[in-house]
Amino acid sequence: MNQAAMAGNLSRLQMQLQLRSERHTGLTARNGLAIIPGKHPSHGDEVIVINAHVDAWFDGAGDNGDGLAVQVALARYFARPENQPQRTLVFVASAGHHTPGLHGPRQLVRMNPELADNTVVALNIEHVAQRNFTPARSQFPDGYREYVADSAEAPIVAGVSNAAPFINDLFGQGVQRYGVNFVSDVSTMASGEGGGFTPLGIAVVTTMQAPPLYHTSGEVLEAISTPGLERMARFLAWFITRLDQADAQQLNP
Ligand SMILES: [Zn+2]
Repeated sequence: MNQAAMAGNLSRLQMQLQLRSERHTGLTARNGLAIIPGKHPSHGDEVIVINAHVDAWFDGAGDNGDGLAVQVALARYFARPENQPQRTLVFVASAGHHTPGLHGPRQLVRMNPELADNTVVALNIEHVAQRNFTPARSQFPDGYREYVADSAEAPIVAGVSNAAPFINDLFGQGVQRYGVNFVSDVSTMASGEGGGFTPLGIAVVTTMQAPPLYHTSGEVLEAISTPGLERMARFLAWFITRLDQADAQQLNP
């Protein structure tokens, strides 16, 4: 194109693009479930759901390989006898997030009315450790701009659907204790998989990034921050423990 421009005949430049696509119908998908029973005699029936979706576009390292990795680490942590919770933890590896009609959490709620009745909080772990990209200081005359990939994670929005002060306060403490890169403002966002749990009328907690490589072929393993993964896993182990120890009133005031 540069040569055409220099020759002064850019107006006569023609281009043809083709996109070939296929449509698949009648697809099925399954949610994966893992249950850690609560040990408290009266709180044991109450459930905390910990959700991460498993399907992706392209390599999906950030949407949602990182969230799934953190979820698996948490399941391992709470499966140890010394970490057994008071309430029951239901880990949901949800399927069909990117496919219309196959929304995993929505089907889970529909097919398990007892589980839905007993759930007091649903936590959705979605896009949590992609590296941060910042514009470089260099800018070239033709507008080309370089970016720098930090080793640490991009900002994470923490949504608490019912704005429960107790839960929002835990995110503030989490920044101080673990250095997780949560944005400062409180939010009631319950996007992505969280939407499947909102009909329950309980606190839906969502941790979510929307970094530049989101939903692109650049979502590869190298785009994930290892320290970010570790910070998030440590924070959520503490966060879920605090939710587990809280009164029902504190979770859903
Ligand atoms: Zn996602």
